[in-house]
Amino acid sequence: MTKQLWAPWRLEYMQAADEQEGCVFCLAKAENDEESLVVHRGQHAFVLLNKFPYASGHLMVAPFRHVGDFGELEDEEALEIHRLASQGIGTLAETFAPQGYNLGWNLGRIAGAGVVDHVHLHLVPRWAGDTNFMPVLADVKVLPEHLVETRGKLAAAWPRA
Ligand SMILES: [Zn+2]
Repeated sequence: MTKQLWAPWRLEYMQAADEQEGCVFCLAKAENDEESLVVHRGQHAFVLLNKFPYASGHLMVAPFRHVGDFGELEDEEALEIHRLASQGIGTLAETFAPQGYNLGWNLGRIAGAGVVDHVHLHLVPRWAGDTNFMPVLADVKVLPEHLVETRGKLAAAWPRA
C-alpha cells in the first residue's frame, strides 16, 4: 500500500495561491533570489524552493514563460526543466543526502496543483520516516529562516556551468 503524504499546510498553500494577485512564478522570477527563494536561474527555466513544502528541500522547476499547458512547452524549455531537475537531484544529494526523490507534474487543481496557469515540475527529496516527521514541521509552520538558509545552501552547492 502506498502511504499518503500528509501535508496540511498544502491546504493553506492552495488558499494562498487562490488569494494571491498575479502568478507566484512570474513574481518570483522578477524578485531577487533571496526573497523569492530562487536557487538557480537557467536560460529558459529556473529553480525555486516551495514555500509550502512536502519535505525540507522541496524544489520546483518552472519555465520563465507563463504557460499553463504542459503540451505547449517548447523543446528547449522541456529539456532545460529536466536538466535542472537532474542538477537539483545532484545538489540535494550533496547538501542533504536524501534517500530518494519524487519528481512530478501536478496538472490541474484536482491533481494537486496550487498554481494551475504556470506549469512546474516538483522535485521532492525523501527520507525514510519523513511521513512521520512532517506533522512536526507543520506545527512549526515551516520557518521562513529555515527556507532562506536552505536556499543559500543549495544555491552555493549548485554546479557552475
Ligand atoms: Zn507565471
